[in-house]
Amino acid sequence: MEDHIILGGGIAGLSLAYFLNDRSIILEKEKQSGGLCRSYSISGVSYDMGPHIMFSKNKEILDFHRSLVDCNQIKRSNKIYFDGKFIKYPFENGIGRLSKTNREYCLTSFLNNAYENYDPTNMLQFFLKTFGEGITNLYLRPYNEKIWKYDPAFMDTQMVERIPKPPKSDIIKSANGIETEGYKHQLFFYYPKQGGFQSLINAYKERIKEKSKVINSVKIKSISSQKGDWKITTNKGTLKTKNLTNCMPLHELFKYLKAPVKIQKYVNQLKYNSMLVIALHVKKDNLGKNFAVYIPNKDIIFHRISKLNFLGANYKPSGGGSVLLAEITFNSGVSLNETKAVRKVIDDLLKLKFITKKEDILEINTHFIKYAYVIYDLNHFKNTDTILSYLQNKGINSVGRFAEFRYMNSDEVAARSKRLAKKLN
Ligand SMILES: Cc1cc2nc3c(=O)[nH]c(=O)nc-3n(C[C@H](O)[C@H](O)[C@H](O)COP(=O)(O)OP(=O)(O)OC[C@H]3O[C@@H](n4cnc5c(N)ncnc54)[C@H](O)[C@@H]3O)c2cc1C
Repeated sequence: MEDHIILGGGIAGLSLAYFLNDRSIILEKEKQSGGLCRSYSISGVSYDMGPHIMFSKNKEILDFHRSLVDCNQIKRSNKIYFDGKFIKYPFENGIGRLSKTNREYCLTSFLNNAYENYDPTNMLQFFLKTFGEGITNLYLRPYNEKIWKYDPAFMDTQMVERIPKPPKSDIIKSANGIETEGYKHQLFFYYPKQGGFQSLINAYKERIKEKSKVINSVKIKSISSQKGDWKITTNKGTLKTKNLTNCMPLHELFKYLKAPVKIQKYVNQLKYNSMLVIALHVKKDNLGKNFAVYIPNKDIIFHRISKLNFLGANYKPSGGGSVLLAEITFNSGVSLNETKAVRKVIDDLLKLKFITKKEDILEINTHFIKYAYVIYDLNHFKNTDTILSYLQNKGINSVGRFAEFRYMNSDEVAARSKRLAKKLN
């Protein structure tokens, strides 16, 4: 009988094992643990499944993660590529670079906002109320439609509620070309000096190895319970425990549970986006000294392109040039032809003049992520509440981005693991 069995060896599972007093067995499907926090390598440079930065409003977790890995502290330099120009990120702090017409549209509709006095009931209404029509229509609406592949009018406000409303004085200054900063909680961030974000995973693994065990390349065959004991049958043997925690996506867990039709229906209704990450080592680029560039234009296949050289000396290819990461989202169930997508990424990089010629591309890697982004559609709250209560009543704990089906970064996931461990300890 095991003290704890944890399903899924992403940061949720590993941090939970770390914070638990007793021994845990972690069952992980992949050869490599880390889930979305894994890193890979191109031309000797580590890159993440979409760049992961370390930042948090939770000082305790941030300090703890910083104590686990040696990090560079970096000042953000992100841009939005709009109308052929690099606009300072966030958009509302860079409107001075827009054409006169667009600048005035953003400023007047922010200062005399017709939507100010409504209580927003969806994401689009939140944007209109908080930023006005100009900033919403020029940037927030197309960008969000592009990343979510879902209409913001049918998305919940949960995820955007934390976006701060900029002070009027900032928008006036920004419209007059005076630089201000927004989203200050991420203005400075941390990033491992080497090895990519995976270094954080490696550090957790190192710290749990005396007490707990990760079993990789596991195929779960069945999960059943009898009088409060859980029995997990896998290709690597059968395990039993009284304490079962799910850290893998809900869609995966429910493949093994004989849930009532009504509950399974709620699971099937949960919406998420998959993603294709394309890493390119290029000889030369025209992205300047920027890290992430956001592209709301829907004719361009990727919504964000990042230049990893920005992250420190170890993220520059030794032979020169730079590593770029392009991210493309698509709705679950939609199939994306990888070869065509790569071709389009290259065409778009040339079209935007981010690279000058095709021959400058030295190497390309691609990664498919099935569960990348939780979509907070209008039924999200009701669906997840019902599913998570069902699991709790069955005696299964849940923690993690897709295990709880919440838009969480690694810091929040680790904080929730810590909270759950405290309860279980
Ligand atoms: C593009 C992108 C950018 C991001 N940027 C940031 C950032 O800048 N900063 C930040 O802090 N966070 C960022 N995040 C979020 C961060 O990646 C997640 O919050 C975190 O990795 C979630 O960890 P998790 O353990 O909950 O889930 P996952 O990492 O999804 O782990 C789940 C694990 O379950 C395993 N699993 C699945 N099915 C089975 C099965 N049948 N049997 C056994 N195991 C199974 C998976 O292989 C995986 O290892 C980003 C995420 C994405 C997609």
